[in-house]
Amino acid sequence: MEIKRIPVLADNYVFVLSDLKQKKAAVIDPAVASPILDYLAKINCQLVAIFNTHHHYDHVGGNKELIQHFPDLCVYGGVEDKGRIPHQQVFLKQDDTVQFADRVGQVFFVPGHTRAHIAYYFPPIEAEETGELFCGDTIFAGGCGRLFEGTPSQMVDSISKLRQLPDNTRVWCAHEYTLSNLKFAVTVDRENVALQERYKAGQQARSQHIPTVPSLLGIEKQTNPFLRWDTPELQATANITQPARVFGRIRGMKDNF
Ligand code: ZN
Ligand code: FE
Repeated sequence: MEIKRIPVLADNYVFVLSDLKQKKAAVIDPAVASPILDYLAKINCQLVAIFNTHHHYDHVGGNKELIQHFPDLCVYGGVEDKGRIPHQQVFLKQDDTVQFADRVGQVFFVPGHTRAHIAYYFPPIEAEETGELFCGDTIFAGGCGRLFEGTPSQMVDSISKLRQLPDNTRVWCAHEYTLSNLKFAVTVDRENVALQERYKAGQQARSQHIPTVPSLLGIEKQTNPFLRWDTPELQATANITQPARVFGRIRGMKDNF
């Protein structure tokens, strides 16, 4: 399975999964259609699936036009998003699976950013492969999505599910927000040397317009404050220890940063 990252709109990433032998492709969160259609034409693949993580327009905006070009494709999304994702046909819940090419994706129900958000995790087949996590606006590189429809407690539960995946899992988040996330992160986790180094590397990469996505889950565990509510450092910053409260305070600080 190949994964192509396509930058669209101001800071979104759309991911196209392809199986070049079978000439089939799937897309994660098509914000828009035309760059996806161009890429599919270039690799000469038929689009068989749209995997949506949640209903926001910058994740589903291309659904309609893609279906017009590929009427047989199937549109997947979370069961709680019923009525909100255009042309949704499959309604997924925690522990459901989806198939693409030779890979089976596991569905995680991860409410918080929205009340219906899901993530797709494709475990490795061979030992040397990486797992691929498509987490929409749940975990970002160095940050997390805003809590539009969920609570800190829900987001802690959701991120806990994703945080237990292997360290070498690639995190394909839906936005290039890394630099502003890291700029905030260094202010709430001040002694974290790995974070400071990541911030420097991120500044370097972005000054040359190099994408910072995907990141690795192991790096997120070390440096992303929104995966670190149970560390003494973040508990000290929040001046509290209860997980949802630590998370809620850090999220509130980010909202006002
Ligand atoms: Zn969103
Ligand atoms: Fe988004």
